[in-house]
Amino acid sequence: MLNLEVNNQIIQAKKGDTILEALNKNGINVPTLCHIKGMLPSGACRLCVIEQKETGKLIPSCSYPAEEGMQILTNSPKVNEARKTIIELLLADHPDDCLFCVRNKNCELQTLAESYHVRERRIRGKKSDYHLDLSSASIVRDQAKCVLCGRCVRVCDEVMGVSAIDFVNRGSDVIVSTTFNKGLNTSSCVNCGQCIMVCPTAALTEKSHFPEVIDVLADPKKRVVVQYAPSITVSIAEEVGMKPGKDINGIINAALRKIGFEGIFDTSFSADLTIMEESAELVDRVVNNGQLPMITSCCPGWVKYAEEFFPDLIPNLSSCKSPQQMMGAIIKSYYAKVEKVKPEDIFSVSIMPCTAKKFEGQREEMTQNGISDVDAVLTTRELVELIKFYGIDLEKLEPELADSPLGMRSSAGKMFANSGGVMEAAIRTAHKTITGKEMVKFQVPAIRGTKGRKETKLQIGDLELGVAVVSGLANAAELLKEIQNGRKDIHFIEVMACPGGCIAGGGQPINTDEDALKARMRSIYKIDENDSIKVSHKNTEIIELYDNFLEKPLGHKSHELLHTNYKERDVLL
Ligand code: SF4
Ligand code: SF4
Repeated sequence: MLNLEVNNQIIQAKKGDTILEALNKNGINVPTLCHIKGMLPSGACRLCVIEQKETGKLIPSCSYPAEEGMQILTNSPKVNEARKTIIELLLADHPDDCLFCVRNKNCELQTLAESYHVRERRIRGKKSDYHLDLSSASIVRDQAKCVLCGRCVRVCDEVMGVSAIDFVNRGSDVIVSTTFNKGLNTSSCVNCGQCIMVCPTAALTEKSHFPEVIDVLADPKKRVVVQYAPSITVSIAEEVGMKPGKDINGIINAALRKIGFEGIFDTSFSADLTIMEESAELVDRVVNNGQLPMITSCCPGWVKYAEEFFPDLIPNLSSCKSPQQMMGAIIKSYYAKVEKVKPEDIFSVSIMPCTAKKFEGQREEMTQNGISDVDAVLTTRELVELIKFYGIDLEKLEPELADSPLGMRSSAGKMFANSGGVMEAAIRTAHKTITGKEMVKFQVPAIRGTKGRKETKLQIGDLELGVAVVSGLANAAELLKEIQNGRKDIHFIEVMACPGGCIAGGGQPINTDEDALKARMRSIYKIDENDSIKVSHKNTEIIELYDNFLEKPLGHKSHELLHTNYKERDVLL
């Protein structure tokens, strides 16, 4: 351990810690706009400066190592003035529209201005003139609000391995933009939204479907139905004043009913359906020497990434649509038939932890007879807006059930929320299909947890199945290159674009800390521990759906409604 003198008091630091880490661990918060916990420092924003007591020099605490005997001041007049000036300079070229901004009250620049008592405009500058980039189906870029912290550039490159955005130009003309400064829709952006999660301001936000949903809810000619993804019920608790990770499934059903949705469905049901189809596809590929390894296709960010960067592996992708799209397709076919409603009179909304689902919902492959499977996609953040807009007090609601049919789920379907969950659910059903018996112990600990890459071998009857789970597309790329180079011992791969899976999706509440993410993951596993139906093939509503409508997994009707194909995609790199 090292001893440092901070503000005339001794604190201890671990060897190898930066000054910023040492201060944070000792309960002293230092502002920063560019730093991302767990990543190497970039030193771009200079807000984290502290004063060296002996020399009077200002140094960035994020990139300086803590040293024995160091004497520093974290809030000297010199430090405070430097920080305040940086904030004022940023505000000098920032739109003054906080009251109308989607990040109002959740903006790091606004919070800093408040903390550093910026009460007047001391610095006036010419405001830069930029245009909104609305070209993407998922992401809106507003350069006028960019503070050039570079967090998005680093996440897109280092975590996602996409590099759709970067700094362009020099000096005072520098901006964050795409290749040739074209719309994001022409770039390699996979719509994951991880850049939104780290952006301190509203320079990056999701393409909102909120106004459209409000309008259609007031249209008596439309039957407006909604599905919500497995991770949603464990992700919004802290946003509405409850304990992070708390599962509020029944309360969400009640809230959505109060808002006016006429059919409320849990996407975990169609996650079970995905498992029925996907595990049948896996067994078919293994038994009939099909293309292996099979790779999951539930994550639309990953699917677009494969189309752009690994087109030779497209035949390895499962042909299954994602649970969102399967649910959409079943709502506009089976549910429409049961309810005697025309598919075109149904408006199907989905609530997802994911911005890429907005892109997926608009893909031309995701239609039947010209009618979209899903009409609008809201993120978890937009669900919170919706709850507030309709004045729903979640604390006062009693839990309710989702609607039937299509409302029941197994805990296997619920596990889609976590990285490794799709794989674990598929293994449970594949085991039954291959051996005719249920697994003795359903849990597969080797593929649980937040690690970016997990691998194990499983014995299923006579078959030794090699499985790998990756999250964060940069981790996926590493594994896929091994497959391209001839690695043969992996038969099944789960890929989720977002690190940790959907619980950490780009549509989830911003500023979620690591502990809250872990609480969400634990909550999902707790549900699995406590539920009596732990396998998709025992979901009785799934069994009924096959008996009454689909007939069998991989059957004709399933192929028509639940499967699709993908193709190589040209983008500006
Ligand atoms: S949405 Fe994802 S891929 Fe697109 S720019 Fe942001 S981080 Fe990069
Ligand atoms: S878009 Fe946001 S995250 Fe990216 S550089 Fe600008 S302010 Fe930082």
